[in-house]
Amino acid sequence: MTQREAISKKLRFEIFKRDKFTCQYCGGKAPDVVLNVDHIEPVAHGGSNEVLNLITSCFSCNSGKSDRKLSDSSVVEKQRKQLELLAERREQIELMLEWKKSLSNFENDIVNMISDYINSKIAPRSLNVNGKISVANWLKKYETEKILDAIDISAKQYLKYENGEIDIESIEMFFNKIGGIIVVKSLPPIKQKLAFIKGIARNKFSYWDDKKGSIILSNYIKQLENHYDEENLLEDLENEVLKMTKDAKNWSEWRNTLENWTSQISAWQTKPETVDGSTNLKEYSLEQLESFVSYNSFEQEYKIKALEHIGTIFPKFELDTFRVTLKKDLILFLKLHNDTENGETEYDEAKEYIGSHLQFAEVKKYFDFDEEDVNLFGTLLVLEPITNQLLKEIFFCCYYPSNNAKKEYKDIMIELNIKYLEKNVSR
Ligand SMILES: [Zn+2]
Repeated sequence: MTQREAISKKLRFEIFKRDKFTCQYCGGKAPDVVLNVDHIEPVAHGGSNEVLNLITSCFSCNSGKSDRKLSDSSVVEKQRKQLELLAERREQIELMLEWKKSLSNFENDIVNMISDYINSKIAPRSLNVNGKISVANWLKKYETEKILDAIDISAKQYLKYENGEIDIESIEMFFNKIGGIIVVKSLPPIKQKLAFIKGIARNKFSYWDDKKGSIILSNYIKQLENHYDEENLLEDLENEVLKMTKDAKNWSEWRNTLENWTSQISAWQTKPETVDGSTNLKEYSLEQLESFVSYNSFEQEYKIKALEHIGTIFPKFELDTFRVTLKKDLILFLKLHNDTENGETEYDEAKEYIGSHLQFAEVKKYFDFDEEDVNLFGTLLVLEPITNQLLKEIFFCCYYPSNNAKKEYKDIMIELNIKYLEKNVSR
């Protein structure tokens, strides 16, 4: 028999914390299993109480592993063991609570630290409780470093001073922009660059269509991807597209240039056999149509997700019914606009069409509320136009005009879109 040196309570706690109160053999967690601190190299073989030789294991893994036999089967002995186990379990729950508390203290410390950092930028003002809640929410999703970077960027860009005094209104702007900056900074580099280019265009041109702009850029990237790796792509975006965006006078110039470049690049692949070029109607490959539709569906999907999220606030909202109804309605819309239009519908007409269609759409009822809902009234009043706007955009994602393309392209796109809807929306 080797004499064991008892492992102190403090050391046990350290080992449990390190191993996150989880048995390192089977993954069982306290308080579902009773935990032991076990020697990796057994004491009998000279193993010590060094931290590195200690590991968290549950009672059953430990007893299976060791030579110890629970041979005594007398009732009294069994009861004694059960009591010990109970005491052990109780002690472990206490330890675990202590650990959880220290973790949440740690999280609070970081929230306070970041809030202090923000306060240092907006002194003599400081964040209120809601501001701190935003900080805590960012921390759930993003790394501290990214948040601090975004604060710096937003401060530099949006905080304004007058005679050495901070402009109160700019504080709100500064704070509201931080979340968006973190999101953009967390995107992959190419998406970041695209967001930056769109930001420039949005601020610069008196007219800017974000959705179309995104599609035009995405088509450009897709063409270029056939020839460039990521590094070259980034370089191209920086040296060509960004520069052109800064130089372009307006939306149409920007759009024409980029669409021209896109079709030039697509010509890189095809052999220039038909120099004829007499037809004005653009030719699209099935692949191009597919990428167009898949981009639209992607936009559509995340807008639907946003809508679902908002929906949970409305008292009458039922998620499953909503999904099914919306899907049905979108498919109906796709088929309808294919049947009724003869290919020459203008953008504004389509907008109107979607607007009037939505008035009768069943989905709207899920975003209704009773005016007696006094507590929710303000919130819902603000949210209603947003949900309507989102709904419109969701429908617009599957609107395919055919003035620039052949009718058959439109048919293919509608068919593809229906396929996507069947696959995605009802999940
Ligand atoms: Zn175990």
